[in-house]
Amino acid sequence: MSWDDRQRAMLAEMGYRLPARPAGGAPVALAPAQDEPEPIDVAAPPVPVLRVSPPVSPPVRPPVAAPVPVSRAPSGFDTLDLPALREAVAVCQGCGLCEQRRHAVFGSGAVAQASWLVVTDPPDEADDATGEHLGADAGRLLDRMLHAAGQRRSGEEATAFVTPLVKCRPPRGRAPQPAELDACDAVLARQVDVLQPRVVLAMGLQAARRLTGSTEPLGRLRGRVHRWRGLPVVVTFAPGYLLRSGADKAAAWDDLCLAARTGDAA
Ligand code: SF4
Repeated sequence: MSWDDRQRAMLAEMGYRLPARPAGGAPVALAPAQDEPEPIDVAAPPVPVLRVSPPVSPPVRPPVAAPVPVSRAPSGFDTLDLPALREAVAVCQGCGLCEQRRHAVFGSGAVAQASWLVVTDPPDEADDATGEHLGADAGRLLDRMLHAAGQRRSGEEATAFVTPLVKCRPPRGRAPQPAELDACDAVLARQVDVLQPRVVLAMGLQAARRLTGSTEPLGRLRGRVHRWRGLPVVVTFAPGYLLRSGADKAAAWDDLCLAARTGDAA
C-alpha cells in the first residue's frame, strides 16, 4: 500500500508513524509510532476509589460526677458555748433550709444552766424576718405561762431556754423534712449539753412528735412523761395555738404543772 501525504498526516494524528517514503515509491508496512500512547482499557472502567474516613470519635466530655447526696450535717458544734453556737448557727449551711432563710432563730433564755428547755415548732415568718423567736403575742403568752410555773426566759434570773426544733424556717411553713431535722439535731444536742435542763417541754405537734419519736396525735402524747436524750419530756400545745384556742389553756396549765413536778423530781 502506498500512502499519500494526506493519509500520512491522518495516521500521524491517530498515533501511527510511517517510515520515510522509500525511494522509488515501494509500499511500506504500517508500524505503530514510537510514542504510542498507552492503550485505554475501555472494558475496565476506572474503579472509583472509596475513601473511607477514619471513624469520628464522639467529643470527649469531662466525666460527670455522680450526684452526691446532700450531707452537710453541721459538725464542730460540740465544743462551742452558747454565744459561739449562736454565731455558728447564724451562718450554718447544715441543711437546705439555709437557702431561703433570712435569719436563723437560735432561741433565747438562760445563758448558762437552765431548769427548763422549751422546744417549739419551727420558726414562722415573723421569726424568720427578725431572728427573734415568739416575739409577739405568742411570746407574751408563753412568758406568762412560764412565769406561772416559776420559770423565766429573760433577764439575769432566766431559768428557761426557749428554742425552735430547727433554727431555720421551712419554706411556705411546711414541716421540716427528716434530713433537715437530722441535720439540726446537732444544734439542739449542743444546746442540751450546755444548758443541762432538768425537764424538756415540747410545745406543738412537730416538736412533740420529734422528741417523743411518735406519730400519735398531740392529744395522745400529753399527760405523760416521755424520754429524749435521757431527759424527761412533757408535751403541750403550741403557744400560737393557745392564742386561738383559749379552751385548751386549762389543759396546757396541767401540762406545765406536770413539767414542774417532773423537773423538781429530776
Ligand atoms: S435548720 Fe439547722 S442545720 Fe439547717 S441550716 Fe438551719 S441551723 Fe443549720
